[in-house]
Amino acid sequence: MLKQIYPYFDNNATTPLHPRVLEVLNEYQSTYFANPSSVGHPSGMICNALYKKNLQSIADILEVKESEIIFTSGSTESINTAIKGLYFQYGSQKNHIISCKTEHSAVLNTLKYLEEFHNASITLLDVNQNGEINLEDLEKSITNRTLMVCLMAANNETGLIHPMEEIYQITKKKKVLFFSDTTQMFGKTLMNKISADIFCGSAHKFYGPKGIGFLVIRGLGRKIFLHPLLQGGNQQSIRSGTLPLPLIHGMSTAFQIIYDNQQRCMVLLNELRNYFESQLKAKLNIYVHSEKANRISNSSNILFSENDYEKILKAMNKFCFSRASACSDGSGQPSHVLSAMGFQKDEINRSFRFSFSIFNTKEEIDNFMKFIINS
Ligand code: PLP
Repeated sequence: MLKQIYPYFDNNATTPLHPRVLEVLNEYQSTYFANPSSVGHPSGMICNALYKKNLQSIADILEVKESEIIFTSGSTESINTAIKGLYFQYGSQKNHIISCKTEHSAVLNTLKYLEEFHNASITLLDVNQNGEINLEDLEKSITNRTLMVCLMAANNETGLIHPMEEIYQITKKKKVLFFSDTTQMFGKTLMNKISADIFCGSAHKFYGPKGIGFLVIRGLGRKIFLHPLLQGGNQQSIRSGTLPLPLIHGMSTAFQIIYDNQQRCMVLLNELRNYFESQLKAKLNIYVHSEKANRISNSSNILFSENDYEKILKAMNKFCFSRASACSDGSGQPSHVLSAMGFQKDEINRSFRFSFSIFNTKEEIDNFMKFIINS
C-alpha cells in the first residue's frame, strides 16, 4: 500500500508512484542497469532490446512512430527542446510565436527568453473568465511570420481543456506548427490520438517516476527538424545523454496502467471530484473556477469566501493541496492563470487547487470536510 502521512490532494503537482511501477523500477535498477548503447556486450544488448521494446510500447499507446519520440528528463526539458529547437532551426524565416496568458511557466518563460535574447515576436492570447481562448482571435493573430502556436491541452491550475481538435484544424489551415503541452492530460482524460504536431509529458504526473518524460514530434527528421539543445553522444538524434532504461521502463509501465484502466480511472476521478465539490457546496459558500467549461476529471480550483479562508489555511497543515501551481507556490506572486481570467488579487489569494488521484478516497474527503466544519 502507498504510505501517505497526510491526505494528498495535490496530484497535478506530482502523483505518488504506482506500486507496480516501484516494483519494476527496483527490478530494472538492479538487473538491467547496463547502458543500452553498449551493444558490444551481452548485458548492453539485452538492455538495448528492452529499450526498443519500451519505445515501441509507448509509441503504440500514443499512436505515433518510434522515431517521433524523444525521451527527456520531463516536460520542462521537452518544452524547452521543442520551442527553442524549432525557433533556432526556423526562427530566421519565421520569428512569430502565438501562445496564451494561462500557459505553464515552462512555456511562458521559454518564450520570454526567446523574445529577450533572440528577437522572437510573441503574441499571448487573452482568456475569458472560464480560462477559454477565443478561436477567432487565434486565427486572426496568425500571420505569414508565424512559426507555431503553443497551447496547452489542460491547465494545471484549473483543469480547463482547450479545444485541441479545433486548434489543430486552424493551424493546419494556416500552415503553422501546433505544439501542445499535454502534461496534465495523461491519466485524467481518455487516451485518444492527440491532435497536435508536437506534444510532451512527464511520467511523474501519471504515477510514473520523477526525472523522465518525453517529447513527440510528428515527422521528426523528415518534415520537421529541431536544432539540438544538448551536444554529446547523439543517443537520440537531437537529444544526447545516456538512456535511463529503468526510468523509461517505469514510464512505459505507468503508461500501460493508465491506458488499460482508463475508463475505470475516469469514472473514479470524476466521482471523487464531483463528491468533493458537492460536499463543499452543501456546507460552504464557494465558487468553482472553470466549472462551466470542459475540465479534466480530477481538478478542482475553489474560491472560498472570506469567512472560510482562515479554516482553509488551517487545513493546509493537515491536508496536502495547493495555492495556484506548485511552481508559483512560495514565490509570493498571485496565480498568473487566475489573474488572466480576470480575478482580483484578493480572490486569487482565497483560491486553492485540489487535484485527486486514483489513490484518493471519499473517506479522505469526508475527513477534510469534518476538519473544515469543526475548525
Ligand atoms: N507543463 C505543465 C502543464 C505542468 O503542469 C508542469 C508541471 O507542473 C510542467 C509543464 C513541467 O513539468 P516538469 O516539472 O515535470 O518538468
